[in-house]
Amino acid sequence: MASSSSQITLRVRPEALTDPEALRQAALRQAQRAGVAGPADDDVLRIVRRSWDARKRPVMAQVVVAWGEEASTEDPAWPEVSEDAPSVLIVGAGPAGLFAGLECLMQGLRPILIERGKDVRARRRDLARLNREHVVNPDSNYCFGEGGAGTYSDGKLYTRSKKRGDMKEALAWLVAHGADPDILVDAHPHIETNRLPQVVTAIRETIEARGGQVLFNTRLVDMESSEGRFVA
Ligand SMILES: Cc1cc2nc3c(=O)[nH]c(=O)nc-3n(C[C@H](O)[C@H](O)[C@H](O)COP(=O)(O)OP(=O)(O)OC[C@H]3O[C@@H](n4cnc5c(N)ncnc54)[C@H](O)[C@@H]3O)c2cc1C
Repeated sequence: MASSSSQITLRVRPEALTDPEALRQAALRQAQRAGVAGPADDDVLRIVRRSWDARKRPVMAQVVVAWGEEASTEDPAWPEVSEDAPSVLIVGAGPAGLFAGLECLMQGLRPILIERGKDVRARRRDLARLNREHVVNPDSNYCFGEGGAGTYSDGKLYTRSKKRGDMKEALAWLVAHGADPDILVDAHPHIETNRLPQVVTAIRETIEARGGQVLFNTRLVDMESSEGRFVA
C-alpha cells in the first residue's frame, strides 16, 4: 500500500466511509504498519479517491485519504461578457461545444453556439418517437441535439488522460452544473442517465446568463473563406 505523511491508501469495509472515527483508526493502523506519521488528533480526513473491490465478499472500498493542508478548490465562476466582446461561433452543442462555450466566457469572449438539433428536453420526445414508431428525425436523435452523442447514456467519465490538461477542472465544471461531487473522487465516476440532461441544461443556462447565445434548429451547411478568414 502506498502512503505518505499526508496521504495514505486504505482498504476498508464500506461502513467506514461514513464513520470518521473508523476511518481515522484505519489510517492510524495503516500509518503505523507503514512506519509513517498518521493523522494528528485535530486533522480532518478527506477522501480524495475511492474505488470498490467487489470481486469477492465482503465488498471492500479502496480509498486514498488525505489530511493537512488542502489545495485551494475555489468554485469556478464564469464572468459575464458584454455584447461588444469578440464573439466566437461554435458549431454543435455536444460536450466539446458546451465546454468551448464555458471556456470562451472564461476568456472574455462571447460564445454563439449553433446546434442543428433541439434542446435536450425536446430531443427526448424525438427519441421516444424513434423507439415507438421507428421514425428517425435526422436533426434530433441519439447523436444529434443538445448534449451531443451519449447524452442519454449514463455519462461515464472514466478518462484520466492528462495529455490535454487537468481533468479535475472539467469534473469541477460538471459539479458546478449539478453533477454529484462524488465524481471528483470516484475511480469510475459517472453522472447518471437521469441527471445528465439536467447538467447539460444547466451548462446552457450559464452560457446564456453570462451573455452567450445558444441557437437550436440551426445547422451549419457551408462555410466561405476570404483572406484566410471564415466569413459565413
Ligand atoms: C450511445 C452512446 C453512449 C456514450 N456514452 C459515453 C459515456 O458514457 N462516456 C463518454 O465519455 N462518452 C460516451 N460516448 C461518447 C461521447 O458521447 C462522445 O465522445 C462525445 O459526445 C463527443 O463530443 P463532441 O462534442 O465532440 O461531439 P458530439 O457529441 O457528436 O456533438 C456534436 C454536436 O454537433 C451537432 N452538429 C453536428 N453537425 C452540425 C451542423 N452541421 N450544424 C450544427 N450542429 C451540428 C450535433 O447535433 C451534436 O449535438 C457515448 C456515445 C454514444 C453514441
